[in-house]
Amino acid sequence: MSEHVWCHGPNCHTQDTQDRIRGVKGSKVLRTRKVKQYSNHIKMYSYFCSNGCYNDFANKYVREVIAIAPRTVALETPIDVEKTRLTDWSGNSYTETKIVRVDNNGG
Ligand SMILES: [Zn+2]
Repeated sequence: MSEHVWCHGPNCHTQDTQDRIRGVKGSKVLRTRKVKQYSNHIKMYSYFCSNGCYNDFANKYVREVIAIAPRTVALETPIDVEKTRLTDWSGNSYTETKIVRVDNNGG
């Protein structure tokens, strides 16, 4: 595996920064940045040089990305809701609402 990949941001090569300048006088370009790869640490940002490049990619290809794992039904997390009546420093009472996760693993 190569130690670098090219940033996958579709507009990376259009950003005016000095580190992107390549070429000789008369034929200079702004070039896509390289992103260093760490073989045991592959994450989304292993393919993008910045949050901006990641956002550009995600916004351009959102339909394709969603098609990989479409959410067709809502997910649910079982909970209990505990309400406790309390009194604040000035003597006014109020209700504290606490969300408690329910363990559904055979308990
Ligand atoms: Zn980039």
